[in-house]
Amino acid sequence: MKNEQGNTIHLRRCVSCGKRFEKNTLIRVTIHGETVSLDSNRQGRGAYVCREKECLTAAANAKKNVFARAFKRKVDSAVYEQIRILSETVQENNGKI
Ligand SMILES: [Zn+2]
Repeated sequence: MKNEQGNTIHLRRCVSCGKRFEKNTLIRVTIHGETVSLDSNRQGRGAYVCREKECLTAAANAKKNVFARAFKRKVDSAVYEQIRILSETVQENNGKI
């Protein structure tokens, strides 16, 4: 898929709402052991969450376990706690990390 300038658009699915967004508008979450990283340059398997408040809140909900589905592995509840803290930071900063 290309935009009007002919650049390739990379679409990624939000793990929470399931809608597709341009990759660079999403928050990339990578999990390394029990460490959650929101550094988009970090290597490793990533999942994407959009910047909607509801999606961030849902992504941080351990009962929904969206990252266990996205990563096809068990995700420690400590990871969701980190995502919750990060999502609050994102919301306070109007979408910036
Ligand atoms: Zn979403």
